[in-house]
Amino acid sequence: MERVETITGAIDASDLGTTLVHEHLLARDEAVHAQWPDAPTLGGDPPTAIEPGGEYDRAVEAARSALELGVRTICDPTAMFLGRDAAFMRCVAEETGLQVIACTGIYTYDHLPTFFLSRDPDQIADLFVADIETGIQGTGAKAAFIKCAADEPGVTENVEKVHRAAARAHLRTGAPIMAHSRPASDTAPRQIEIFAEEGVDLDRVQIAHCGDSPDADYLERLLERGVRAGLDRWGIEMYLPYDERMKVTLELVERGYADRIFLSADSCATIDWFPPEAAAALAEAGMVRDWTIRMTPERVVPDLREAGITDAQIETMLVRNPVSWLTGSG
Ligand SMILES: [Zn+2]
Repeated sequence: MERVETITGAIDASDLGTTLVHEHLLARDEAVHAQWPDAPTLGGDPPTAIEPGGEYDRAVEAARSALELGVRTICDPTAMFLGRDAAFMRCVAEETGLQVIACTGIYTYDHLPTFFLSRDPDQIADLFVADIETGIQGTGAKAAFIKCAADEPGVTENVEKVHRAAARAHLRTGAPIMAHSRPASDTAPRQIEIFAEEGVDLDRVQIAHCGDSPDADYLERLLERGVRAGLDRWGIEMYLPYDERMKVTLELVERGYADRIFLSADSCATIDWFPPEAAAALAEAGMVRDWTIRMTPERVVPDLREAGITDAQIETMLVRNPVSWLTGSG
């Protein structure tokens, strides 16, 4: 049986079980916290993420609530610039028993540090490969997929460089790729084109945030290139309301793509992007609703069943697709 690296070690792919492919245990600006370690976190809590209180407790709580709903594994796409912290993820996994799959990569819509501006994609790929083969941040815990992103600015020169680095790390290690996309800016076709130019097996590429598009024809054109699609932001109403997400999901299943799509919420147990009052205002205004790690198992899956999706199709989306994307088999 194929093995998959989790933050607490390699497991049989058959033990992944119900897997949410896109949930964050922590999202914080690592540079701010490195430079101003006393900067307030969501809970106004201590500088070290692992200390009890605030972020750590919220991550443990999220992990436990997912487990209660039958989830056994999450892929946590927290990469550079989102505060990736392997020790933090490992503590949460050990304390709760949730299987957590970590990534390598860079989450940027354009900005790159001079360190990367002066290096080529192969040199950036060296860092990704080290995370996959040796381990992350000295913990020995290995990354199992590669993250990159394109958003409103489009596929800029810097974003292209990160995509090429991700592609080359994939070719060297066999690790799959998760590419954050923005349907409203039509980033995916160019992202896919870069991967194809680099010789990436597109079956191992997951285009994240496809579920922000209400347009099944658009998504079908992407899927027909051979990639997989993340319907992974249930609860983020400001990008697409729940009912429209449901409609496009049902349409894709109807068209025969159940074996190409993933369900997840892109939830963040904590996120420090906004001051607390702004975060509260977003929720108040209905921009996000029920946007937690519980969303997929608690609401999306029952609603899909109600709409006629079979247990076998649910299992395909939540159990089998993560295995085949992560391992390239099955
Ligand atoms: Zn995300």
